Amino acid sequence: MADICGMQVDYLIIGQGLCGSFLSRYLLEAGCSVLVIDQPVENSASRIASGIINPVTGRRLVRTWEIEQLMPFAWEAYSSWGEQLQQSLIRKISVLDFPPNPSMQQAFEERAAEDTYLQYPVAADEWKPFFNFLFPPGLIQPALSISIGTLLTAWRKELENRQWIRSEVFEWNDLTYSDSEVRYRDIIAKKIIFCDGVNGQQLPCFQLLPFAPNKGEVIWARIPGLPDSHIYKLGIHIVPWEGDVFWIGSSYEWNFTHDQPTESFRNQIEQTLKKWLRVNFQILDHRAAIRPANLERRPFIGLHPHHPSLAILNGMGTKGCSLAPWFARELANHLLLGTPIHPQADIARFTKILGKNSLE
Ligand SMILES: Cc1cc2nc3c(=O)[nH]c(=O)nc-3n(C[C@H](O)[C@H](O)[C@H](O)COP(=O)(O)OP(=O)(O)OC[C@H]3O[C@@H](n4cnc5c(N)ncnc54)[C@H](O)[C@@H]3O)c2cc1C
Repeated sequence: MADICGMQVDYLIIGQGLCGSFLSRYLLEAGCSVLVIDQPVENSASRIASGIINPVTGRRLVRTWEIEQLMPFAWEAYSSWGEQLQQSLIRKISVLDFPPNPSMQQAFEERAAEDTYLQYPVAADEWKPFFNFLFPPGLIQPALSISIGTLLTAWRKELENRQWIRSEVFEWNDLTYSDSEVRYRDIIAKKIIFCDGVNGQQLPCFQLLPFAPNKGEVIWARIPGLPDSHIYKLGIHIVPWEGDVFWIGSSYEWNFTHDQPTESFRNQIEQTLKKWLRVNFQILDHRAAIRPANLERRPFIGLHPHHPSLAILNGMGTKGCSLAPWFARELANHLLLGTPIHPQADIARFTKILGKNSLE
């Protein structure tokens, strides 16, 4: 199956966020034919994300799941793709973390004694012209910073040039499938792979997976003079974006009634910045997106246990930058070579639940 003119392809991919982009890259590199269907939206999770891979997260500063293998893999995946696309996609960066109170200061100091990603304290004087703070900052390094927007735009252009992408909305009702193929309008494919982010929870085939969407709001602000050498953290993150513009956020809400930005978030960020910053800032933009998160905080990867022509790459939650490259590779290898998927990520763990789905 390689003739795209007849719209017969090996794989039909729904979505061109981080997941669909990496998966299409790996399948195309392996010589497969691929068609991507993606309706671009400004507030997809990938478009709103700050693009940080932070090896140590949370109040307790614990290492993130599987970071020892995810981080070097991500470095290679984004660097090599950047070279191909002639774009700068990734750089190493340090997180300057300001403890908000004595107990967090103590926790940082204790964790720094046992984890090489952490350093406490670091010289504070050079930061005094920029920030008000009571306790000296610590450092998390190296973290990685990804230019997701640059990647998505450059890859989309490549796909468009070769007519491997359609900008349209995928409609479930136009899909039929058997165990060996799927048909969607004029397209016949061996498999369809859903990389549709938060919309995945509405698919009849996968809606019983324990999705738990999570809303995040973000502000972009101009902060002239603030060095773009670091990410700054004091409850919220200030992340270098472009020139003197910084990404500032974000919220993390399990309960929400709409996907739009709110006045209360903007006010809260404005107040925080006024207290924390000693330099001027000017708010430029404010947006919100929904993270495709889930209750287990582990991705949803693999073939539908009862319908082998349907597959999924989703559930990246707050960590798509590190999880999407690794698990896109794992899924591609699984499809092509039959290699196993990490048991904590493989949707085979939901075989029973997914059996309850009435697709007929
Ligand atoms: C505020 C915020 C900050 C974040 N910061 C970070 C961070 O610093 N580091 C990190 O690792 N992660 C971060 N994340 C999480 C990260 O954004 C996600 O894990 C990741 O982007 C998910 O990628 P995805 O490809 O699964 O989904 P998406 O980015 O949502 O992509 C899905 C794509 O599918 C398309 N689509 C969906 N349904 C259809 C349909 N029916 N027809 C056609 N097209 C369709 C959508 O338009 C979209 O283009 C953040 C998220 C948010 C909201």
